[in-house]
Amino acid sequence: MSDPFVCARCAEKGKTCCELTPGTEEVCFPVSDYERERILECAPDSGGFVLQLNSPLFIENLLKLFPGQRRTVKELFPPGGMHYRLEVDSGGKCLFLGSGGCVIPKEARPLYCRLFPFWTDESGRITLLEVESCLAQQENKTPGKLFKTLGISQSEVRELHSQLRIAWGFAAHVDNG
Ligand code: SF4
Ligand code: SF4
Repeated sequence: MSDPFVCARCAEKGKTCCELTPGTEEVCFPVSDYERERILECAPDSGGFVLQLNSPLFIENLLKLFPGQRRTVKELFPPGGMHYRLEVDSGGKCLFLGSGGCVIPKEARPLYCRLFPFWTDESGRITLLEVESCLAQQENKTPGKLFKTLGISQSEVRELHSQLRIAWGFAAHVDNG
């Protein structure tokens, strides 16, 4: 059964996936122009984005998400270039995080946020981005239960991941290296 309150319970306990550890901003996921424009149409004054350097650590992190796509990662996020990410406050909280959760309507949230904690590998297999503090993961040790609790289906995960690949520019590249 889905648990619509698991993320609210997680927020009551402490840090959620909408907060990062201050100092780790450079490895925050990128937000594409397409995603940013959609968000700005829905929540223009609520939060923000900042430009972030494509640092070696950021690129290394992307390569973990897209293994075997080194050339594409470097083309899309050239070393020394810049990308947008979500802006956070001094405590690491996303500026779109309101007292009742994310202020952006679900359909317009960054695709990474909508997918979390799921991911998909090159062969289309759904994988898990393991995060210790995620209450949904703590309470649901099998993927089936986690899908149910978070109210998302495998086909929705695949569809969101494919939208993310298009938005971030990966779908237009063939990369075997
Ligand atoms: S955009 Fe919304 S869902 Fe994504 S990190 Fe910020 S508050 Fe959380
Ligand atoms: S997805 Fe996990 S980490 Fe994010 S708010 Fe929900 S329970 Fe917490």
